[in-house]
Amino acid sequence: MSSVLLDATRWSGRYFSAGWRPAVAQAAVTEKATGTRLETVGVADAVAVDRAVEAAVVAQRRWASLGYDARAAVLRRAGSLFEHHADEAAEWTARESGAPLAMAHRAQGVAAQECYEAAGLASAPYGELLRSGAPRLSFARRRPVGVVGVIAPFNAPLLLAIRAVAPALALGNAVVLKPDPRTAVSGGVLIARVFEEAGLPEGLLHVLPGGADVGQAVVAHPRVPVISFTGSTPAGRAIARASADQLKRVHLELGGNSALVVMGDADVPRAAAAGAFGSFRHAGQICMASGRHLVHESVVDDYLAELTRIAAATTVGDPLGPGVGYGPLIDAGQRDRVHGIVTQSVEAGASLLAGGEFDGLFYRPTVLSRIPLQAPAYAQEVFGPVAPVVSFGDVDEAAALAADSSYGLSLGIITRDVMAALELADRVPTGSVHINDQTINDEPTAPFGGVGESGSGARHGGAQSNLEAFSELQWVTMRREAPPYPV
Ligand code: NAD
Repeated sequence: MSSVLLDATRWSGRYFSAGWRPAVAQAAVTEKATGTRLETVGVADAVAVDRAVEAAVVAQRRWASLGYDARAAVLRRAGSLFEHHADEAAEWTARESGAPLAMAHRAQGVAAQECYEAAGLASAPYGELLRSGAPRLSFARRRPVGVVGVIAPFNAPLLLAIRAVAPALALGNAVVLKPDPRTAVSGGVLIARVFEEAGLPEGLLHVLPGGADVGQAVVAHPRVPVISFTGSTPAGRAIARASADQLKRVHLELGGNSALVVMGDADVPRAAAAGAFGSFRHAGQICMASGRHLVHESVVDDYLAELTRIAAATTVGDPLGPGVGYGPLIDAGQRDRVHGIVTQSVEAGASLLAGGEFDGLFYRPTVLSRIPLQAPAYAQEVFGPVAPVVSFGDVDEAAALAADSSYGLSLGIITRDVMAALELADRVPTGSVHINDQTINDEPTAPFGGVGESGSGARHGGAQSNLEAFSELQWVTMRREAPPYPV
């Protein structure tokens, strides 16, 4: 693989913590579509976490006292590097995570945008003047929190890390990032190399690949007061529990099982295409995937026919290949989990209209109709290319079905009556609503997050949410002199 930014001679067998350090343990970086070993990365441990946090604490004080423009300039350069090296980085991402090349390419643009938005955040107002009943100046100002721990998953490794790393740095914090070991290059090495080239001062960003144990060490460290975690609900719960003793702030972005509601007046071919995108994009390995298709009974047969046609026509293969709809699942464990869920759902009474089979890690797009509501492909997050379809008779039933989930990440509603859609949305607890769109939507300018088992209410994205997530509000009063207390 030709390389400019990601020349492996620099980082092979190392992790990034005040420079590239040789690691005691190493992990293979593999191409998921072929199983080919691409490289090795250094794996960190609890001692490395400790050392990284100590260095980060020192570096953060200097960084926070710099002028905002110095921080903004680093973020702007980082954004431009993501753009400049997009081809090379996207190829790594496609190989390492299995994401289609076009999707990996788009991630570079979004990562750049995250950095540009964060650069603007560095210069934005960061407090407010307050009224006071006393003769004093009273104001609230936002201060950096110190060291932010960022823990990210494999499925969109760059985006789910940079959406926290960039604003946290821009606001004067240091960051310890723990990527998923299966995507340690696109979710870790790439970010380290970009910020190294962008001139981020040493000690402010540490990238420590490793498993849950390394994440646990970051969470447990007393000098990491804020954790930004994206991943599964069980791991989010474990992190919330582990943080409770130290009363840490934990921003949890967790799983989902989002509903796509198709009303009877919808344009069915468009709705089915949206539904296919919502369920099959990146082999369904997206937290906002359309996990439950709720379709009005008057159009459900046409919808199923079109969805099945699209599923059968979709090419599943090497994400670098031409015309590929999507690539492999991340590993055999995930493939077996998905297949188990599909098999159990068919045994529970669902009709299999397409898919339900695989070749290696390549799982065919799967359409299930007449699925019982308790069947796992409908009731659980699948994280695979599976579209379970259920019909409803009226809007009350649609609202009840859509709301009947412990998750609450995203909701899509397709109809010609947008006001009716908004009223329906009012009845469903969810972090985002997309009227006349499927459920997968995300932008650096929008506050993203979930309710219920999809998250702790934290939001990433948008200036205000990022300010709240990565700074601490402090109330300050000032008097000319101390008042004469009657003691
Ligand atoms: P996971 O929870 O197993 O792992 C995510 C990250 O957390 C990895 O880096 C892992 O090493 C680390 N980790 C795991 N257990 C930990 C622990 N106890 N302490 C500290 N770190 C720990 O998630 P996954 O299954 O690999 O990823 C898929 C899940 O992530 C899905 O449920 C998906 O919906 C969710 N997700 C959510 C969002 C969102 O923004 N809401 C985005 C993408 C993915």
